[in-house]
Amino acid sequence: MSSPFFTEEHEDIREMARDFAERALAPVAADIDKNDTFPKELVSTMADMGFLGIKIPEEYGGSGMDMRSYVCVMEEIAKKCVTATLYISSANSLSTAPIILSGTEEQKQKYLPGVASGKSIISFGLTEPGAGSDAASLTTKAVKDGDDYILNGRKCFITFAPIASYTTVYAKTSPEKGAKGITAFLVDMKLPGVSVGKPEEKMGQRGVPVSDVVLDDVRVSGNCVLGEVDLGFINAMKTLSVGRVGVAAMSLGIAQEALELAVKYTKERVQFGRPLAKNQALRFMMADMETKLNAARMLTYNAAWMMDNKQDATKAASMAKYYAAEAAFDIVNKSLQLHGGYGYSKEYEIERLYRDVRVNSIYEGSSQVQQIVIAGQLLK
Ligand SMILES: Cc1cc2nc3c(=O)[nH]c(=O)nc-3n(C[C@H](O)[C@H](O)[C@H](O)COP(=O)(O)OP(=O)(O)OC[C@H]3O[C@@H](n4cnc5c(N)ncnc54)[C@H](O)[C@@H]3O)c2cc1C
Repeated sequence: MSSPFFTEEHEDIREMARDFAERALAPVAADIDKNDTFPKELVSTMADMGFLGIKIPEEYGGSGMDMRSYVCVMEEIAKKCVTATLYISSANSLSTAPIILSGTEEQKQKYLPGVASGKSIISFGLTEPGAGSDAASLTTKAVKDGDDYILNGRKCFITFAPIASYTTVYAKTSPEKGAKGITAFLVDMKLPGVSVGKPEEKMGQRGVPVSDVVLDDVRVSGNCVLGEVDLGFINAMKTLSVGRVGVAAMSLGIAQEALELAVKYTKERVQFGRPLAKNQALRFMMADMETKLNAARMLTYNAAWMMDNKQDATKAASMAKYYAAEAAFDIVNKSLQLHGGYGYSKEYEIERLYRDVRVNSIYEGSSQVQQIVIAGQLLK
């Protein structure tokens, strides 16, 4: 698709991702969902193709490409296997954005190459049982002890935690200062006192383990502090801005696939002596789906373009995530409706897409949280 937002290089990487998704991911996507396991060799292939290091600078083993390249890859991969996009988004956003944003040179050299090569995963530990949308109310504590810190607390819903090498843990160092008293720590998952809970039995996006991370008197050295003490919440929010554009791009891919499935099915399925697609009511439904998808696309591409051009994309990223996630759910839901009873059967891809898309308006800031951000920017 030609678009004013993209260069030929973007289109080349999009083509490469599309080809990989169709050839290597589409044939195994249903099994990944069914078995709740993602093949290790596919992670290595995605690393070799440069997908895990798209946004990681070249000097740390990545490709040093821009946000629009990331969006192209996420969108194409999501069409065929949503689970695969989580490996890509983790590596390019929640794993590495905190370090690229605030890490020392030593930390960048230590942590980034492993992620780009697919050898290590760093999970993002912000949410707690009592602190979801209100993330700043987290209660995990880090208390200074000589040059070290002692961490205590529990994180929940942490994507990849059971197989992560490290977790970026956001903890209160100055509890009396609220959001301005949170520090980010790079915690080695093998340290004494670190444990993970049982992986959640998720509705969709299966093949990626998500669990609690428990910190019980975990001693970490001062070298593990990421960025400045007490300024960790800013790091978390900036990371989530990058992540939100990734979720928006993933939503575009899911919605495009759902729409294509609806077009194909309604042209083939005959009821009342003619294809479903001949009914104007259903044609109007599909016109709405196509229009919403294109509106979501423009918001997402624009947010990525703003980031690439060093503009403040806080509101744009939230609008993209909010609109694309809600539109994708609506499009998938309508596509399933157009499939009738067959759409409710696991035999049909749309059933999986319906489960996969549902969480997009919940994680990395729910739709309501995006509305809070958008209104906050509008009314400041
Ligand atoms: C599969 C999955 C993976 C995840 N991965 C990670 C991860 O890797 N790292 C991480 O830190 N977290 C992760 N999360 C957590 C996720 O970010 C939170 O679930 C999300 O932020 C919502 O928090 P909550 O679940 O506590 O819901 P709550 O905050 O309890 O919200 C419940 C509902 O109330 C609404 N709501 C809350 N406050 C307001 C308000 N003021 N005004 C209007 N509406 C409001 C919300 O929008 C939501 O609809 C993951 C979650 C899931 C499901």
